[in-house]
Amino acid sequence: MLTQNLGYPRIGSHRELKKACENYWAAKTGHKTVLQVGKNIRQENWLMQKNAGISIIPSNDFSFYDQVLDHSLMFGAIPKRYNEVMLKKGNTELDLYFAMARGYQKEGLDIIAMEMTKWFDTNYHYLVPEFYKNQQFKLFSTKVIDEFYESKQLGIVTKPVLIGPVSYLLLGKEKEAGFEKIDLLKNLLPVYLEVLTQLVNLGVEYVQFDEPFLALDLTEKEKKAFREAYKQIKNAFPRLKIVLATYFDSLGDNIALAASLPVSVLHIDLVRAPQQLNDVLSVLKSDVILSLGLIDGRNIWKNDFEYSLSTINTVVEKIGESRVWIAPSCSLIHSPCDLDNETNEEILTPEIKQWMAFAEQKIAEVVTLKQLANADRGTSAERKLAENIIAQQNRKTSSLIHKSEVKVRINQVTSKDAERLNSFSVRKVKQQNALNLPSYPTTTIGSFPQTAEVRSWRAKFKNGTFSTAEYNKLIADETTKAVKWQEEIGLDVLVHGEFERNDMVEYFGEQLDGFTFSKNGWVQSYGSRCVKPPIIYGDVKRYAPMTLEWTSYAQSLTPKYMKGMLTGPVTILQWSFVRNDQPRSQTCTQIALAIRDEVCDLEKAGIKIIQIDEPAIREGLPLRKAEWENYLNWAVNAFKLSASGIKDETQIHTHMCYSEFNDIIKNIADMDADVITIETSRSQMELLDVFADFEYPNEIGPGVYDIHSPRVPNRLEMIDLLKKAKAVIPSEQLWVNPDCGLKTRGWDETKKALIEMVEAAKIMRNN
Ligand code: GLN
Ligand code: ZN
Repeated sequence: MLTQNLGYPRIGSHRELKKACENYWAAKTGHKTVLQVGKNIRQENWLMQKNAGISIIPSNDFSFYDQVLDHSLMFGAIPKRYNEVMLKKGNTELDLYFAMARGYQKEGLDIIAMEMTKWFDTNYHYLVPEFYKNQQFKLFSTKVIDEFYESKQLGIVTKPVLIGPVSYLLLGKEKEAGFEKIDLLKNLLPVYLEVLTQLVNLGVEYVQFDEPFLALDLTEKEKKAFREAYKQIKNAFPRLKIVLATYFDSLGDNIALAASLPVSVLHIDLVRAPQQLNDVLSVLKSDVILSLGLIDGRNIWKNDFEYSLSTINTVVEKIGESRVWIAPSCSLIHSPCDLDNETNEEILTPEIKQWMAFAEQKIAEVVTLKQLANADRGTSAERKLAENIIAQQNRKTSSLIHKSEVKVRINQVTSKDAERLNSFSVRKVKQQNALNLPSYPTTTIGSFPQTAEVRSWRAKFKNGTFSTAEYNKLIADETTKAVKWQEEIGLDVLVHGEFERNDMVEYFGEQLDGFTFSKNGWVQSYGSRCVKPPIIYGDVKRYAPMTLEWTSYAQSLTPKYMKGMLTGPVTILQWSFVRNDQPRSQTCTQIALAIRDEVCDLEKAGIKIIQIDEPAIREGLPLRKAEWENYLNWAVNAFKLSASGIKDETQIHTHMCYSEFNDIIKNIADMDADVITIETSRSQMELLDVFADFEYPNEIGPGVYDIHSPRVPNRLEMIDLLKKAKAVIPSEQLWVNPDCGLKTRGWDETKKALIEMVEAAKIMRNN
């Protein structure tokens, strides 16, 4: 029985790579420094895994920005617009690479970056390969070969990780009409074979091909591409051992396909999809090793050793110990690096910490599981099993996690609790009478500029330089200024500005029981950007009102409507590490009840309009369409539960960022928010078509200007967009607001742009 790892975090346990890259981009250091930092991280990771006792250690899992971009560079899939970058004196391959990742604006060039999108259902983002008709590929970057050689120099024969040819093509985008990207396989495969030739010449034994698309719905043509690709690879390299890695969901109806491919090792994700094990075992060819993805690569909980051991034992009985490998479920790049760096017991208490494992701890778990399964039970493995059992027991019963009042309340929730008192048509009239807003009412999405100054106040408050009173005074003054200014320019529905918030999820998490945080639990989101998700470990409950004070304060400053501003339950869930001892839907419902209480408290305090942001609803969609309905049912229900404890007159807004609504418009309508604001300006209002076709009944605020650039739009442009909106959505349903994200802008451009926006709305009213 061997152990393997599929990939290790490359950001460095203190985000060394982030800092090195950002210094390089700012021209504070040269390329030698950043290359050296990369090399150090690779060596550290390899040696750590070797010392931990992992049998098969990955290479080429390192990346300066993104592994998909690495492959585009490897295959020479470099869009023409970057040609000039290499012609500039002094530029290296690394500069070309970063230009593709981030765009290139200097020396008279202004080249946009490649598009970025989410990596399956994770919060990692990759750079989308751009494909053209008859595109030719050639070996351009030899990174994978160089890194294999580098590890060999260290005395470690690693397993290079490649994205498999079919998944690489499916990750890309066709940039012109007249072909299908999968047709490029025949042009692409020769480059894979060339890479493999070089690796084999250097003495490679195993190569990992990641084919996550095997866990998604595939067309017949795509299935055929899989067969063709792996047949050719096998024919060219009959003795090379291929590890075929699948993850994030079950193989489902692709089980037979996956099992038929001529590979040496098949890796499956048994954390996301434990139910697939028996089906896989029943079709696995007798010469194929099964790699059991038992340790959760995407969450921060300790493995349940007893449970994993029973799985391992079942498999060993069926196919024999020599055909079983133990592994994390997927690459560990989705886990933070090292739990041992969490030394601040005030942030993360020892009781909670004992339930957790970050990447380095997960590596140790893989090895311990193998030792325990092998019954080469050295005393240390036995001791670790005993400790693990105690931690699991403690987690099952800890009063930190299990709160009877939360469980009792959840059981009392009825379907009626998730419905407003009356339908929208009734509410609309009551709200009109109560609120008396003009047509084309104007508002913003919530935040106002989080200037360096505001952020410095928070930092000083956190490190004790400012007292609570001092900090609150500064925030209150900033809020007052924002309210007065909104009044002055004549916005109809005001916001308080969110100056007191560090982040739209963390701010709520910090005020909810059942949440904890880490100091160093960073995970790569894209490039040098890392996130530190809150950790939901237990039953969720509100200690006390969370936003009431600031919202009421802001309301007290103005006779205009102050919009209460909350983050919705699905978004809070989606952007956190979630407990794995109960269904996500259950945790989401608990959060929904806490938000519901907040909504009710705001209403009681006289707040008439409340926005519940749900930008993350769409990204929670399961990978397989068959599972969408179940997810959408509980997600929409959680939102409605949070929004329904109030009178008809109180107006609920929700907000979603730029996303495609085509296939979920019915569910968006089911959310039944009185007003939905969406990001649309960059699509020239095209996103509204699906609302129009569906005859979406409630009110809509399409963003009328793009906040992503400091450029100030004028009223004519906005009027133009509003006219486009009016052409498809009846004007009595329309609101006027910018796209979301004003917190990232400066005050100067924000003010100018909103003045124009208010004028645009006035002109629309008079037409
Ligand atoms: N209310 C939030 C803001 O305006 C919404 C952020 C978001 O949509 N991601 O910043
Ligand atoms: Zn948004």
